[in-house]
Amino acid sequence: MITVVYVSSAVLLMSPTDLLDLLRNSRERNHVAQITGMLLYRDGNFMQVLEGEERVVDALQERIRRDPRHRGMIGLLRQRLAERAFGDWSMGFRNLHELDERERVQVNPFLAPSFAPEHWRASPDKALKRLLRFRQDQN
Ligand code: FAD
Repeated sequence: MITVVYVSSAVLLMSPTDLLDLLRNSRERNHVAQITGMLLYRDGNFMQVLEGEERVVDALQERIRRDPRHRGMIGLLRQRLAERAFGDWSMGFRNLHELDERERVQVNPFLAPSFAPEHWRASPDKALKRLLRFRQDQN
């Protein structure tokens, strides 16, 4: 099994309906393919972690890379995995525009200074930490 993390930028700002549409399809497909993970969205930028069998994850990431809804995918991490960290999620999701005040205070250190893809290239470990943090906050 492997895990990958990437960041990318939406070609157009995604409406709630666009995001729901993307999520519904992704969850169905990921469930069948035994892919787990999480997608974050903020200010037109995505960060996603995918977990699963190596060939399945690599093929999915390549399909996502070619998706015309976003561009500029930067792979931050690709590593072997003994155990899933997002095991019960076919695709968790947080739209970071919709945090309440309590959540905003909690996650602010992670949101600063920027959610822009270029920022993460220099600190891929922080990206995974952020995703795991959001995963913990859901419990
Ligand atoms: P088809 O459904 O046959 O679509 C054909 C083409 O149209 C593909 O290039 C597809 O990318 C594109 N397309 C599909 N819907 C739209 C639309 N509404 N607007 C514009 N173009 C469209 N898929 C997963 O299965 N799991 C994931 O975890 C996942 N995460 C994603 C994260 C992001 C940020 C993005 C942008 C997409 C994600 N997708 C995910 C969707 C993925 O890119 C593919 O669209 C999906 O897997 C279906 O692939 P397909 O080749 O069967 O495409």
